[in-house]
Amino acid sequence: MLRVTEIFHSIQGESTHAGRPCAFVRLTGCPMRCVWCDSEYTFTGGASVSVEEVLGRVRAYGCRLVEVTGGEPLAQRGAFDLIARLCEEGYEVLVETGGYVSTEGVDERAKIILDVKCPASGEAERNHWPNLERLRADRDEVKFVVADRGDWDFTREVVTRYDLQRRARAVLVSPVWGETDLRELAEWIKESRLDVRMQLQLHKYVWGAETRGV
Ligand code: SF4
Repeated sequence: MLRVTEIFHSIQGESTHAGRPCAFVRLTGCPMRCVWCDSEYTFTGGASVSVEEVLGRVRAYGCRLVEVTGGEPLAQRGAFDLIARLCEEGYEVLVETGGYVSTEGVDERAKIILDVKCPASGEAERNHWPNLERLRADRDEVKFVVADRGDWDFTREVVTRYDLQRRARAVLVSPVWGETDLRELAEWIKESRLDVRMQLQLHKYVWGAETRGV
């Protein structure tokens, strides 16, 4: 059984898959507490749902792209089984993970979108660094949410130290919604000469920042 906050059909809002129709399975619970977290409603509650039932709900959308997210999806052992079953059924599976739990054991057909927590999140000490060494350049993406200049300097250092431009399919750089100055962030990226991708959370522009299930 899985603890599930919501299952819904929407448009992928982040990563290189942004803009594509996508079915989302949002699992409940997260061991982290990022200060700017926009998913605090996933920390508790949720419903107990079997993997079979989740698969049934996903099938009903008729959408070939599925994202398993949270909270922290990999904090539930059952998530590994769900991901494998979705891959087995031929879905293109994205796994959005906060970077604290090891990605070892995730079905290799799934595509990992791995957060690296920057200092302003308050959780940078808990990054599980071996996850960066498991990234695969043909499919996995790595994401930094940047609140301020200190976060950007940290991002540049980690991108260089782990050779992420080569190691990942994309290095995503996101502002903190409503906090980071977008033009300033764009300038920092330009000046750095790094091959990274600034991204905005598309779904928040379409439906608003507070709307759930979209
Ligand atoms: S890892 Fe994700 S869900 Fe967990 S606290 Fe951080 S932003 Fe929120």
